[in-house]
Amino acid sequence: MPVIERRKARQVHIGSVAVGGGASISVQSMTTTETSDVGSTVSQIDELAALGCGIIRVAVPNMSAANVLGEIVRRIDIPLVADIHFNHHLALEAIEQGVDALRINPGNMHGEEGAREVARAALERGIPIRVGVNSGSIVPRKGMQPAKSPDDMAQLMADEALKSCTLLEDCGFGDIIVSVKASDCATTIAAYRAVAERCDYPLHLGVTSAGMQYEAVVKSAVGIGSLLASGIGDTIRVSITGPPAAEVRAGYAILSSLGLVSGGAQIMSCPTCGRCSLDLPAIISEFKQKVPEVDWGIPTGRDLLVAVMGCVVNGPGEAAHADIGIAGTKTGGVLFQKGKRCKTVSRENLVYELVNAVREILANDVEDE
Ligand code: SF4
Repeated sequence: MPVIERRKARQVHIGSVAVGGGASISVQSMTTTETSDVGSTVSQIDELAALGCGIIRVAVPNMSAANVLGEIVRRIDIPLVADIHFNHHLALEAIEQGVDALRINPGNMHGEEGAREVARAALERGIPIRVGVNSGSIVPRKGMQPAKSPDDMAQLMADEALKSCTLLEDCGFGDIIVSVKASDCATTIAAYRAVAERCDYPLHLGVTSAGMQYEAVVKSAVGIGSLLASGIGDTIRVSITGPPAAEVRAGYAILSSLGLVSGGAQIMSCPTCGRCSLDLPAIISEFKQKVPEVDWGIPTGRDLLVAVMGCVVNGPGEAAHADIGIAGTKTGGVLFQKGKRCKTVSRENLVYELVNAVREILANDVEDE
């Protein structure tokens, strides 16, 4: 896979995680629990951290949520970002509670002085601020022309974000991360490109309100993926309506499809056609249940590509780069490694043989360490 040359951004640290300056691209998510319900919030964060979520964000809509942030920080192992709108007192309390970063939109804080107070407090504590401007937060001001095209909207979003950065910079604050998310890919891509050209702050990528399941994953893959492919982006969040574990999986799938993350195991499978002699969906589900660590390229310490192909006519050839795989025959299938057939297997033993072969590769790696 060709190596993507990444935009040079300054480096900012969210707790122990470096963002920008050549650091690995981190995958983020956001909890869906009520933040003040500490038990549920911590347990969701633990679940996401186990999947490789590098940074977690929680909504802080009121003082009850702000007041428990310190307890959450103490009980989790990944950096915590407090997401705050409008009320700078919530941001000041979040800083006091020891969060690792803030996400605010200074443009929607009640009064610029409030945003300045937040910047001064964050500077004192040494924590970064993400300036997060979404297309929905662009409210036409007096004398301002409404956006007529995605490009217009993208420029307005970039202007708004950079204006907020200037407000923070005027307080001597420079640990800034920027995001400019829209709900469509064209606007999102144009907005990030505009910001990327005009500053060196690291960028948090995402397409906002992307929808459920496939819609969200496709939109995010196009929006986030296009930017990453052109070298833009330092941390990502895939927005999906529903349980956030899918966001982390999709994040890794996007990164691994571009070769931007390593050390993960994943499956490739053919779309099947009239030559297919196997029930591939059933085989893949059974395999995934037995070897759950082969999961969307989520880092487990080893690059491993497992192929499940419908026929031997094209399967082993199309999956020649896979570490291990099976392909269907009239009577069952063959096990192949790096495109070379190594064993004929009966239909009922296909999954068993594949699981054993994968387990053997993983066990050999442990012995080699
Ligand atoms: Fe069809 Fe075989 Fe290609 Fe699968 S690998 S799509 S079954 S030709």
